[in-house]
Amino acid sequence: MQLAGKTVLITGAGRGLGAAIAEGLASRGANLALVDLDTAGLGAVRGACERLGVRATTYKANVAAEADVIRAFDGVVADFGRLDVVIANAGILRDGLLVKVKDGAVVDKLSLAQWQAVIDVNLTGVFLTGREAADRMIRLGSGGCIVNISSLSRAGNFGQSNYSAAKAGVAALTVVWAKELARYGIRVNAIAPGFIKTEMVASMKPELLAKMAASIPVQRLGEPNEIAAAAAFILENDYYNGRVLEIDGGQRL
Ligand code: NAP
Repeated sequence: MQLAGKTVLITGAGRGLGAAIAEGLASRGANLALVDLDTAGLGAVRGACERLGVRATTYKANVAAEADVIRAFDGVVADFGRLDVVIANAGILRDGLLVKVKDGAVVDKLSLAQWQAVIDVNLTGVFLTGREAADRMIRLGSGGCIVNISSLSRAGNFGQSNYSAAKAGVAALTVVWAKELARYGIRVNAIAPGFIKTEMVASMKPELLAKMAASIPVQRLGEPNEIAAAAAFILENDYYNGRVLEIDGGQRL
């Protein structure tokens, strides 16, 4: 796919990887439909995209709320008249051990609220975003590309029952959708980033971050623009389909 003039919808576009992908694709001439809960962040990213000479619009929506997602997609199709790319990127962390044990006694458990919050945004949010993307792309009849953001943690990361389960689910959805949607000219892929320098990672404990960086073969965290370059590669290569692209500095969990 040539990105110039295409319409790209990105969820969680108000900062971090979503913002970096938006700016990376804007620099290739794509127009951006930016979706997030954070309207201040959306405004800043919109300005950055517009300064790169493309059209950018913003939509406030919670990806875990079906009505919000449908409304955002309706707005994008009404505003642009086309939808070529959807990046399902919005995600949250609510880390915690399954059970916390002190002096041989269980003192805490991962709460159902912690579990459900992450499943709602990181898995159901991707499901709703991908479903509406497929619906609109098929109706518009021009094919397209869906890119889901999974994670290195899909392999199972300590302290991340909820997040790992959701990200493994996202990787599985990617394979299912690639099989189901290829007949409509829609490619579906995922990116599995390792530890990338965004606010999400900055919220981790400094000692854990330092330990994490030391365990990465390239000895550093990734940069958001390295994930943006991965998204551009996936979109521009029409034979790339049904895969999870790992960008993690060689790290293995
Ligand atoms: P981030 O800096 O926390 O940014 C996430 C953005 O998503 C924020 O603007 C946030 O808005 C928005 N968001 C959160 N919940 C939402 C919801 N329910 N509906 C709509 N928007 C919502 O995170 P990031 O590091 O850029 O991560 C982006 C994606 O990459 C996530 O799926 C994450 O799991 C994945 N990932 C990140 C890393 C990493 O190392 N950074 C590694 C692997 C995978 P608010 O500020 O309003 O909450």
